[in-house]
Amino acid sequence: MEISSHAFMIEVCYPRDEKDMTLHLYDTRRKEKVPFQPAVPGKVQMYVCGITPYSPSHLGHARCYIAFDLLHRWLEASGYDVDYVQNFTDIDDKIIKIANEEGIDFLEVANRNIEDYYRVMDALGVERADHYPRVTEHLDGIINMIEILIQKGHAYTSSDGVWFSVSSAPEKFGTLTGNTIEAVQAGGSGRLDKSDKREHNDFALWKAAKPDEPAWDSPWGSGRPGWHIECSAMSLHHFGESFDIHGGGFDLRFPHHEAEIFQSECCTGKEPVVGIWMHNGFVRVDGEKMSKSLGNFWTVTDAFKIYDPIVLRYALLNAHYRNPIDVSEQLLNDAKGNQRKISETYGQAIVSAEQGEALAPLPPLPEGNIESSEFLIQRIGIIESLAEEAARALDDDLNSRLALSKVQAGAKIISEVLNSDQIDETDTASFATFSIGWMEEIAGSILGVLPTKEIAKAIYDPRLDPKRVAIRDEVEALLARRSIARHAKDWAAADEIRDALTEMGVTVKDTSDGAVWSLD
Ligand SMILES: [Zn+2]
Repeated sequence: MEISSHAFMIEVCYPRDEKDMTLHLYDTRRKEKVPFQPAVPGKVQMYVCGITPYSPSHLGHARCYIAFDLLHRWLEASGYDVDYVQNFTDIDDKIIKIANEEGIDFLEVANRNIEDYYRVMDALGVERADHYPRVTEHLDGIINMIEILIQKGHAYTSSDGVWFSVSSAPEKFGTLTGNTIEAVQAGGSGRLDKSDKREHNDFALWKAAKPDEPAWDSPWGSGRPGWHIECSAMSLHHFGESFDIHGGGFDLRFPHHEAEIFQSECCTGKEPVVGIWMHNGFVRVDGEKMSKSLGNFWTVTDAFKIYDPIVLRYALLNAHYRNPIDVSEQLLNDAKGNQRKISETYGQAIVSAEQGEALAPLPPLPEGNIESSEFLIQRIGIIESLAEEAARALDDDLNSRLALSKVQAGAKIISEVLNSDQIDETDTASFATFSIGWMEEIAGSILGVLPTKEIAKAIYDPRLDPKRVAIRDEVEALLARRSIARHAKDWAAADEIRDALTEMGVTVKDTSDGAVWSLD
């Protein structure tokens, strides 16, 4: 039978039937799932708050950037042209503190942690954003924005910098959190501490230089920008006065994102600055908040020592992005088992398809064809509907947990068919090719939880491990020589060969069927 891979996903994903399938995303501002409609049809402008690179990336970062990576991939698979901006806050109190402690330049601290970020996110399959603006490269835009806010009466200067006056736009207070200005004022009584701001809620736009701190010139003396204004200035630079999606961790809703709303909307006069505000949930470890003092703080590099990056990605996607996730040994081991299952099936499909290529000129077996097509058509039907269900799950505010369960269900049927004796070899090969396309589309390009072809084959059949294949001839020759030495009772020679094999990372087991070897 003729089966084309890929064709069905293109129909499922894009273009959508407007009434039937539309991507819905939860907007923190409107507090509901809303149909996604970008300002310019077919194009998406998306900004996600990036890291403050004062320390290596941790599990919370992994979760956030994997969640928005999935959104990025799904928007592109749906046919949108996505412009993705993610910043680096490369100047900050914590960066300065570490630089001073180590006696090095603050940019050295920032750069080494930005390198760590790229390294671990690449390993986690997080596709790169289109732009990674850095605060230290956007000082002009930041200063310009602050000047406009002062001119419009939304900001004021003081002895210690420039402050945004929250009471100049009280209607914008609590846009994302629903907090009232009164409640925050009541909770913050007596916290005006050392600063020279007028009201407790006012936040810094520009911080006057302190000794031993990097500083830039400005109309208000030398200093450096406050954290919130940076994101407003960088999104304005890349997208203009409004854009489609703004993302970040749940903890950034207040004050960071509400401050961005104050700054951007008061500066440009355009509201809302953001179409949809998206926030990912917290990461907990063994039921507790991750913290250095509790000793359960995991950097991504720590996690890689125990778990494969793809397993970590699988585990973090196996929960809805808005829900909190509790990282535990059980969660990671479950992910390991599930990720292995789909890798094994993928590996088996690749091997079956390759065997089919070798058999290609063989005519189809005469019997069995009718039965085998009925058997196949029914299963292909199920697998195609699973792809559609996975697409619907992702359209429903990125329900990656449900989408992964559809992938598992599909892999199970694929494995059943590949192991079935009801179909002939050519149909098996043809089905294998279809299955490879199905898995690469959903589990690979969209969810990012498939290994490479070589790794998948080695998981399915360890004898196909490329490392093993590379040394196979040499190992077989050494084993043959060892066997001769043993027959001749030349134990010294036999031991010498065994040592050589150990050095190559080869473990030899003597069985009644002869020597069996494996790679460590
Ligand atoms: Zn930000």
